[in-house]
Amino acid sequence: MSIFNKGPVYSVVFSKCPKCNLSNLYVDNHPYHLKKLGQMKKECEKCGQKYEPETGFYYGAMYVSYFLSILFMFIPAGILYLAFDTSLETNIGVVIGIYIFMYPILFRWSRNIWLNLFVPFDEEVKAKILG
Ligand SMILES: [Zn+2]
Repeated sequence: MSIFNKGPVYSVVFSKCPKCNLSNLYVDNHPYHLKKLGQMKKECEKCGQKYEPETGFYYGAMYVSYFLSILFMFIPAGILYLAFDTSLETNIGVVIGIYIFMYPILFRWSRNIWLNLFVPFDEEVKAKILG
């Protein structure tokens, strides 16, 4: 198996329980259903892992969000600057457009990464649930 179908990367990209990878983290797993963007389940229905270990836990996700935002603005800006002969105004517009489009995904990835930093993947728990 590769890191893309189990473990922390899988958990972050597909919003799955960091511990067992078997349950969704959010009430609605689709990030573009914006009304439910931030609504997380209380805990994993498969392994019982709490998704908000303490009150205010996700304030720390702001640091991750900041880092991801920089990444998702500077990479497109760099590509536009180096590979295309477009004006500064066009570049700024495209970068802001990409960022707005990516926002729901980045919002969730920030939370998912933050939770994964504190809750390690547990192969044995997953194996036990699957039987
Ligand atoms: Zn779980």
